[in-house]
Amino acid sequence: MGIRENVKCLLREIPEDVILVAAAKTRTPQEVLEAVEAGIKVIGENYVQEAERAFELVGKKAEWHFIGHLQRNKVKRAVRIFDMIQTVDSFDIAREIDKRCAQIGKVMSVLCEVNIADERTKWGVKAEEVEELVRSISPLRYIKVMGLMTMGPYSEDPERLRPYFKKMREIFEKMKKMDIPNVEMRYLSMGMSDSYYIAIEEGANIVRIGTKIFGPRRYK
Ligand SMILES: *Cc1c(COP(=O)(O)O)cnc(C)c1O
Repeated sequence: MGIRENVKCLLREIPEDVILVAAAKTRTPQEVLEAVEAGIKVIGENYVQEAERAFELVGKKAEWHFIGHLQRNKVKRAVRIFDMIQTVDSFDIAREIDKRCAQIGKVMSVLCEVNIADERTKWGVKAEEVEELVRSISPLRYIKVMGLMTMGPYSEDPERLRPYFKKMREIFEKMKKMDIPNVEMRYLSMGMSDSYYIAIEEGANIVRIGTKIFGPRRYK
């Protein structure tokens, strides 16, 4: 099946109140455009430079979410393109986003990235550190915390991820009840090609899907 059929199929399957982000890493601008023309509203990019190339072709036909690990020296360029940064995991990077957004008069929606299985190889803050991070960011005027994101561990059997998704949901609900000023716990971003249906069952309202839209990645 092609990109168009894959997108149509996913949009039929996924509940209307769940946002489908097309994870576009390694795809050409033409492929990204094809996904958008098939009905994708949000594109997820891991690399600023790749996003800039796709943005030249696709522009504002879709929203742009940053889902990779953001380096400080890329923030200035990132804030120009992206509507949301899903991977904030330190006060330091939040402060840089705030500073660069202040310069262009933009308030950036962000999600805080949680390393829910506490893996050494993953970015994100530990479950116990989420509240502290969110509270530290909340006074920044050019950032609005809109929820949480996680990659989750890799497993051959996606059912094994369910307990981690459940734990994310618990943290999300707990943070929501705290009513922290300038924080709106609206989005829970979790689930990828092989786990999105489980993530949705456990409360995800953003899923990030690459392979199931574009096919296997071709690494150069
Ligand atoms: C690549 C990627 C995805 C999508 O992965 P697939 O398994 O191809 O669906 C989702 N989220 C992030 C952060 C990614 O880097």
